Amino acid sequence: NPEKTLDTFELTKAAAGFYHQELFKHPEARQYLQNRGITQETIEKYQIGFAPNNWDFIFKSLCADSRQNPDKVSKLLDIGLIKENESGRYYDMFRNRVIIPIRDKKGNVIAFGGRVLDNSKPKYINSKESEIYKKGYELFNLDYVRKLPKEELNCIIITEGYMDVIALDQYGVHNAVASLGTATTPMQLSLLFKQTDKIVFCYDGDDAGRHAAWRAFGLTLSAVRDDKVLSFCFLPKEHDPDSLVRAQGAAGFRKYLENSLFFKDYLMSELSHRYDLGSDEGQIKAVDEFCSLVKRITDAPIMLQSLIVAMAKLVGWEERRIEICLQNKQ
Ligand code: ATP
Ligand code: MN
Ligand code: MN
Ligand code: MN
Repeated sequence: NPEKTLDTFELTKAAAGFYHQELFKHPEARQYLQNRGITQETIEKYQIGFAPNNWDFIFKSLCADSRQNPDKVSKLLDIGLIKENESGRYYDMFRNRVIIPIRDKKGNVIAFGGRVLDNSKPKYINSKESEIYKKGYELFNLDYVRKLPKEELNCIIITEGYMDVIALDQYGVHNAVASLGTATTPMQLSLLFKQTDKIVFCYDGDDAGRHAAWRAFGLTLSAVRDDKVLSFCFLPKEHDPDSLVRAQGAAGFRKYLENSLFFKDYLMSELSHRYDLGSDEGQIKAVDEFCSLVKRITDAPIMLQSLIVAMAKLVGWEERRIEICLQNKQ
């Protein structure tokens, strides 16, 4: 029902506006953003806001007339901006947090992210999935990225967090998006491949980020195409894209981007780290894992061939042997 969706977006837009205005009444929240190096211009561009430490700020702001408007209340419940307690009272989901509106590819606000101002937990909370928000189908910042001039779309960078995207953009790297609290899905990749021929995964340099990259690798296999490029950028352990671009600027960040590993090289590097390729046993396990992975590549015959050649070289086998293993998996 398009009419229904339309006024849900009016509601989310109004909520973003209330949070954004509230920021100007809270020096502690502005100070937090300033400490992170976020400028006023960036605050405006991303409509960054603040949810005060108050049980019903957004509820009251949007539903002063709640008695007359149960429809509005039920929408707010649906999109997770408010919840209902046992005694039937409504309370806000986001309290005492910096608010980042999450937009769809057309620019409609579909969800919110909220970050605490200190080290308390949970660090972030994000809107639950709803009729207007399906995580696996959305990418933070895609609405801006798709409007970039062609020259800036030679690649699109995928990061783990919206704060990474915001910092990169502010420092001059405009072509980044973030997946939203889940592993990047084949659907998200195909959305991005409509805008660019090259996607670079740039996750945090820590162990969690490295694991996420490997998980992303597994999920990208069905999206591999011979006319597209997927690569993986690795940052130093102590950095994520946000902290790196703040420390080393856009030029520093781009140096890491240039050293990204192409899909094939990343796979070879991971397999050689995971298995002892000096032993027969290690070679067999590595080939077994290789075949389990690459059998999911169904639409990239040239890439597949090139992976087989690389794998044969890595373990010192004849290509034919790898092909037979692969056929047996299929
Ligand atoms: P910081 O604000 O400290 O720089 P970050 O943006 O680097 O945090 P990470 O801890 O690297 O965030 O996590 C990446 C993404 O994962 C965040 O953008 C957020 O969407 C999500 N995330 C992190 N922690 C949580 C959490 N406790 N609950 C839900 N989502 C989370
Ligand atoms: Mn403003
Ligand atoms: Mn991070
Ligand atoms: Mn960070």
